[in-house]
Amino acid sequence: MDAVSELQAALGPQTVLTGAALAGVAQRSDASGTGRDLPLALLRPGSVADVSTALSICHRHRQPVVPQGGMTGLAGGANCRPGDIALSLARLQGVEEIDPVAGAMVVRAGTVLETAQNAAEAAGFLLPVDLGARGSCQIGGNIATNAGGLRVIRYGTVRENLLGLEAVQADGTVLSHLSRMQKDNTGYDLRNLIAGSEGTLAVVTRAVLRLRPLPEGIETAVCALDSYAAVLALMALARKRVMLSAFEVMWADYFEVCGGRRLFADIPPFAVIVETEGGQLEPFLETALEEGIVSDALVAQSRADARRFWEVREGALPEAQLPDIANFDLSLPVALTDDYVRACRARIAAALPSARSFFFGHVGDSNLHIMVELPGLPEADVHALDRIAYDLVRDMGGVVSAEHGIGTLKRDWLGHSRSTGELAAMRAIKAALDPAGILNPGKVL
Ligand SMILES: Cc1cc2nc3c(=O)[nH]c(=O)nc-3n(C[C@H](O)[C@H](O)[C@H](O)COP(=O)(O)OP(=O)(O)OC[C@H]3O[C@@H](n4cnc5c(N)ncnc54)[C@H](O)[C@@H]3O)c2cc1C
Repeated sequence: MDAVSELQAALGPQTVLTGAALAGVAQRSDASGTGRDLPLALLRPGSVADVSTALSICHRHRQPVVPQGGMTGLAGGANCRPGDIALSLARLQGVEEIDPVAGAMVVRAGTVLETAQNAAEAAGFLLPVDLGARGSCQIGGNIATNAGGLRVIRYGTVRENLLGLEAVQADGTVLSHLSRMQKDNTGYDLRNLIAGSEGTLAVVTRAVLRLRPLPEGIETAVCALDSYAAVLALMALARKRVMLSAFEVMWADYFEVCGGRRLFADIPPFAVIVETEGGQLEPFLETALEEGIVSDALVAQSRADARRFWEVREGALPEAQLPDIANFDLSLPVALTDDYVRACRARIAAALPSARSFFFGHVGDSNLHIMVELPGLPEADVHALDRIAYDLVRDMGGVVSAEHGIGTLKRDWLGHSRSTGELAAMRAIKAALDPAGILNPGKVL
C-alpha cells in the first residue's frame, strides 16, 4: 500500500483529502505568494494521536510532510513541492485551560492567535504575542517561526513567552513537556530548539504560553522627526522615562504610501509610533518637543485614534496598488540602520530602476523591514535584489532574518549570517531528530 492509501485507511477520508477534495481547501502558497503547487494530499488531523499516526506512516514510507498553520508566513516555509503531503493543524484548535495562578494558558497548535488573545483578555490577562496577521496565523505557526511582532520591545519574542511545548517527532514519537514553570533546567532545551525550527524538526501540537497582567494606561502617539539621530534620541529618552510597549519607525517612503498624509499633511523624514504603558506619555512628549527631538506629535484621544495610527503602520500597502512586492526582514545594529537604508535604497535604484523600496520596522528591537515593488518580480531581478540586501546586511554586521524565518526564500543566504561550523551543527541536529528527512525538506537548510 502506498503512503496516501495507508493514511486514508488509518485516518479516514475526512482527515486525508486528495484529488478533487483539495479544491478550495489546500493552498498553493503562504503569504509570500511564492508557492506554486498543491500537495499530493492534505492531512487535517483532529487529535495529537492522529498527528502521531500520520507521521509514523509517512516516516515508514519516507514521504515528505509539510506542516501548515495559518499560511501567513513570508518565507515560503509552508509551501509544498510536487509530491509533498501537507499537514494542517487547523482542526487541532482551542484554548484548553487558563491557569491564573501560574499565569499561563494551555493552547492547541491550530488556535488562531487572535482567538487565544481574546480568551486571555476575557480571563483578565494579556497574551503578549501580537502581529499584524493575528486574525489568521496560528499558535503553532507562531512557535515554529519564533514570531516577533509589535510588542517584542516589552515582552520578547514567542520564545520568551513559551513555558511548555508538546510536539510530534518525524517518526510519530510525542514529546510532551507542558511545563507551567518559569524555571526548568532539566537537560537540553528541546522547547527552544523546536521553536523557530520552521517545521523541520517536529510538528507542534500544544503549548503553554505565559500570560501577563492586562496593561493599564496604554497611550499611543505618532511623532514626526527630522533625522535618524532624532529617532535614536527619542528611543533613548523613552527608555529612561516611560514603559515602552512599541516603538515603530517608518521612513518617509513607507509612511506616505501607507496613508501617512492622513496624519501629517507634510510627510516628515521619519514617523514613529510610540506606545507606552502606565500613563507617562504626555510629559515625555513635552520633553521631546522642548528638546527639539520631535517636530510634531499626535496623541491618540481614543482607541479609534490609536487604531488609525496603527493602520498606517500595519498598513499594508494596498495589494491592488502594489501587487508585486518582495519582502525583507533584517536585523541590524540599531545605530547603523539608517546608513543601511540609505545605501540599500541607492543600490536598488542604481541596479533596478523600475523598483520602488519602502522601509519601516520594529527599530526598537533592531528589526528593519523592507518592501520592494518590482513589476512582474522577474527571477533574475529578485536574485539581484536579494544580493544587494543580504550582502549589505552581512557587511554591516546584521542577519538575514529577524523574525519571518528562513523558509526557502532565504535558504541560500543563511551562510551570510551563520558560520560553516554552525551550519554543520544544524545539519547534525536535523539528521538526529529526522533521520529520514521527511519534515519540511528543503526548508531552512
Ligand atoms: C500582514 C502580516 C503581518 C505579519 N507580521 C509579522 C510580524 O510582525 N512578526 C512576525 O514574526 N511575523 C509576521 N508575519 C509573518 C507570519 O504571520 C508569522 O511568521 C507567523 O508566525 C506564521 O504563522 P502561521 O500559522 O501563518 O504559519 P505558516 O505560514 O502556516 O507556517 C510558517 C512556518 O511554520 C511551520 N509550521 C506551521 N505550523 C506548524 C506547526 N504546528 N508545527 C510545526 N511547524 C509549523 C510551517 O511549516 C512553516 O515553515 C506577518 C505576516 C503577514 C501576512
